[in-house]
Amino acid sequence: MTNHSLHAVTTQSPKIAIIGGGLTGLFTATLLERAFAQNIAQDSVQTHLPQITVFEKSRSVGRLATRYRADSHTGKNWQWAFGAQFFTAKTASFKQFITPWLDTGLLQPWCAQVIDLTPANNDTQSPDIHIKEQWNTAQACYISTPKMTNWGRTLADELQYSTIKFKTRVAPLVQYDNTLAEKVDKKTELFDETGASLGHFDWVICTAPNAQAIELMAESGFAEQAKISEPKMLACYTLMLGWNSADQLPESLSNDRQSVWDVAYLNDSMLDRIFIEHQKPAHADLLPSLTIHARNDWSEQHVDDDIEMIKARLLQAALQALNWSDDHAPSQIDCHRWRYAATVTDSDKEAVGILIDESHQWIVSGDWCGQGNIESCYQMAQQTVEAINKAK
Ligand SMILES: Cc1cc2nc3c(=O)[nH]c(=O)nc-3n(C[C@H](O)[C@H](O)[C@H](O)COP(=O)(O)OP(=O)(O)OC[C@H]3O[C@@H](n4cnc5c(N)ncnc54)[C@H](O)[C@@H]3O)c2cc1C
Repeated sequence: MTNHSLHAVTTQSPKIAIIGGGLTGLFTATLLERAFAQNIAQDSVQTHLPQITVFEKSRSVGRLATRYRADSHTGKNWQWAFGAQFFTAKTASFKQFITPWLDTGLLQPWCAQVIDLTPANNDTQSPDIHIKEQWNTAQACYISTPKMTNWGRTLADELQYSTIKFKTRVAPLVQYDNTLAEKVDKKTELFDETGASLGHFDWVICTAPNAQAIELMAESGFAEQAKISEPKMLACYTLMLGWNSADQLPESLSNDRQSVWDVAYLNDSMLDRIFIEHQKPAHADLLPSLTIHARNDWSEQHVDDDIEMIKARLLQAALQALNWSDDHAPSQIDCHRWRYAATVTDSDKEAVGILIDESHQWIVSGDWCGQGNIESCYQMAQQTVEAINKAK
């Protein structure tokens, strides 16, 4: 980014709307704020700061999700990170970005012991377990503490020139009227689902999952509409289990077993991975809690099935994998359906990257424009800031 171009941006005090308060939206707001602030510091010029508004239809921050239940007897919690469990930071830029929160301890590496687990195929056999790897601090897998949602909340709290409007669903954008557009200088008016105006914006950045972005942009004349449907996203069912105390855990999970593990990758099962929540860093106060993700292909095949039937099937598969007897069965059982969980990545094809309509000053972004993970959210936020700067 050049100083000259950023200066041009700041003097016009752009109004920027970000649709979606997930990590892509929050990273984008953070990086936009930093880019403007850096320019002001360098130019020593009294300029206008950007006015950024993030619109989020739910009451919290996207697919980073934590559920908990309090136990009235002990006052302790069961807790499940039922969306993203951890993230990686492979690029130097993302590593640098996360450093301040690593320094405060909000983000921590999770040096999990990972196993391959093949469930038993009848009641008498035990699951077959092999050590797969141990995550380390060099190529770390990071978690947010004490909950996965804390990082999103902290990012939101640290924004200085941005307003977040939760429980506000942006309605699909409408066809742009060129004559009117010239008069109002490329501004786009956004509306909520009741038809109330949310204001006029110089830039609109959509960070919704792509099935929702398709609907939001369908009638708008967005120049890159066809490309939004290129990446495919698959569903994921998540099973959350809790036990009343450590001594009620089945043998396959108890600490006195031969191989202590934190994460299991499953073979020959509709289940994909098992995560032991109470063994994560800064999670030791939890009651025993397990999060289990089903395989994405299996979840997609059953995406419209009755959730109670899904829960029963996943529980049966978990029993087969962990082999508990009736007196070691979990006391807490919950299940969640993610319709848009995972982006299908093709190693032969490049990711689409953010989609830009320069004439309207609209950008469609999100993890699905990259590899479908948290690091992609950051990369798409970087691309967005570069595009906004370049357009000036
Ligand atoms: C089960 C599961 C497991 C995962 N595991 C991992 C993992 O291990 N590691 C990893 O790195 N990543 C993982 N991910 C992916 C990671 O969670 C995502 O990459 C990341 O959270 C996506 O952030 P986002 O901001 O792009 O999208 P989202 O979090 O989906 O945010 C988009 C937001 O837009 C909002 N929105 C949509 N339409 C509108 C509208 N009209 N108006 C207002 N708001 C709207 C939505 O409510 C949503 O909050 C996992 C995801 C799931 C579901």
